[in-house]
Amino acid sequence: MQVFERTTECGLINEQNLDKRVCITGWVHRRRDHGGLIFIDLRDRSGLMQLVFNPDFSKGVHENAHKLRSEYVIAVCGTVVERSTETVNTELSTGKWELQVDELIILNSAKMLPFNLEDANVVDEELRLKYRYLDLRRPEMHKKFALRHQVIFAMREFLNSEQFYEIETPILTKNTPEGAREFLVPSRMHPGSFYALPQSPQLYKQILMSAGMEKYFQVARCFRDEDLRADRQPEFTQLDLEMSFIKEADVINIIERLFTYLFKKVFGKELKTPFKHLTFDEAFAQYGSDKPDLRFGLDIHDATSLFKDTELKFLRAVVDKGGKIGALHARSHDFSHTELNKWVDKAQKLGAKGLLWIHIKDENKIVSPVSKFLPEDFFARAQKVFPTIARGSVLFLVAGQYKPVWEVLGRLRLALAQEMKLIAKGEFNFAWITDFPLLEFDAKEKRWNSMHHPFTAPQHGWENKEPEDVKARAYDMILNGIELGGGSIRIHDRQTQEKVFDLLGLSKEQVQQKFGFLLEAQELGFPPHGGIALGLDRLLMLMTNSSSIREVIAFPKTARGYDVMMEAPTSVDTEKLRDYGLKLLPQVKD
Ligand code: ASP
Repeated sequence: MQVFERTTECGLINEQNLDKRVCITGWVHRRRDHGGLIFIDLRDRSGLMQLVFNPDFSKGVHENAHKLRSEYVIAVCGTVVERSTETVNTELSTGKWELQVDELIILNSAKMLPFNLEDANVVDEELRLKYRYLDLRRPEMHKKFALRHQVIFAMREFLNSEQFYEIETPILTKNTPEGAREFLVPSRMHPGSFYALPQSPQLYKQILMSAGMEKYFQVARCFRDEDLRADRQPEFTQLDLEMSFIKEADVINIIERLFTYLFKKVFGKELKTPFKHLTFDEAFAQYGSDKPDLRFGLDIHDATSLFKDTELKFLRAVVDKGGKIGALHARSHDFSHTELNKWVDKAQKLGAKGLLWIHIKDENKIVSPVSKFLPEDFFARAQKVFPTIARGSVLFLVAGQYKPVWEVLGRLRLALAQEMKLIAKGEFNFAWITDFPLLEFDAKEKRWNSMHHPFTAPQHGWENKEPEDVKARAYDMILNGIELGGGSIRIHDRQTQEKVFDLLGLSKEQVQQKFGFLLEAQELGFPPHGGIALGLDRLLMLMTNSSSIREVIAFPKTARGYDVMMEAPTSVDTEKLRDYGLKLLPQVKD
């Protein structure tokens, strides 16, 4: 057995190593056999280094190098020499040098890979996930995970400097109602009873405040057994925190300072604080969403007044029924007639019943499928609603009930912005959405649900309001149109908590059974407190400019919630189920 000691790393080789002997290890990244000379790009975590095997220099080693193939794991020693000027690679940090190899040890061979690492961006994602270790070997992926590490490390550094304690909370727990369905875990010791995996550490972190911990955080794993939508994962990571004796502004302030620290540390970038604040009602009225992308304008306008005496039947019907006409005003973009008609189909795909476009060719020339129904002074009237209307402007109108119409316009706004290339790349646009409604009505179940969760404190004076008018002491943080997370000031007294449970239609027995411990704690010296949780995977997706959160999770599940590498979940035989007191029902096919 040859003795080998690694003296440096591929990507660290520099001027100082010139003419010196070094020993490095890694994977064969690329191999070029130039008749006599064999060139290998050797890759380790730190980068690439070019190796040269020269028969004139070391015959035996050169012969051995013929065996090398992609992804062989090798150790080499040799002398660092300068490359000839024509062969300098300016894209590599080590591109000025090469290693004249005099010793080669093959640590392990590799069969032909199921996909070429350089093609990973075009191969089927399931294949990448099945061989995730190969996929993760790629320098591009290494960069993402290095950044993930730096981000989490910087968060810990900052929160530590702010006297937060990092405290772990149980994974095997009881369900906390946060709107999603939970995973259940049977246990041999408790046949017939189940643990639930936490949707978040919500109740534990509140209880930690009762325990006097005052400032808690956790890089917490959360589990939700949801029907998976495009970019959801059954398990994901949050930066979860909670503080005592604070108000909304304190949580907002600590998070802004945390992000300022983080972006400076990781990107050397100065974030502008305070971040923009919008109330839920403002955000919805302007952008048709509670997580608007604020990197561009294209606000929604209420154009109902413009059509109050219209003869157009379908608009008339909407106005008469107390509905609304919402509009987007697109400027400085050349839309052809055909394109405008295509937007009608697109709007329908986004959920609109119809879309009406009005193209202002100039003040006196207005083109629209309904132009003959528009009043002669339409331009002058429109100026009142759209002050910047001008030649070339296009109005996109949707009519109906306020909420659904504004939601559609919100989606249309995003689609138009993409088409019109209004979204600046490389920008991080943070904002806070505040003053959320406490409750939302579930029309199907005919009952009120918490918009955030049932532990969120209502705003002052709520007892005298109708449920739909009660606002919560809740806030969401958004980044580039994505909800990074949210939190709230919590209820800390039993009376308020019981009233909220009552509004949610929970019976005394249900409350006692589910939350008895919380109500009891609220009577044993519970301090006022509040907190927030931020989705780390989403944040990292945005920070690394990745197309999905799966790109920044080391071992994500597929869109169907399947771990293709481990092949989980997997069936369990009857025998084993019996240990848990379980029996499977016949599968129902849908
Ligand atoms: N537990 C909440 C969530 O996961 C966040 C919070 O209220 O702190 O969304």
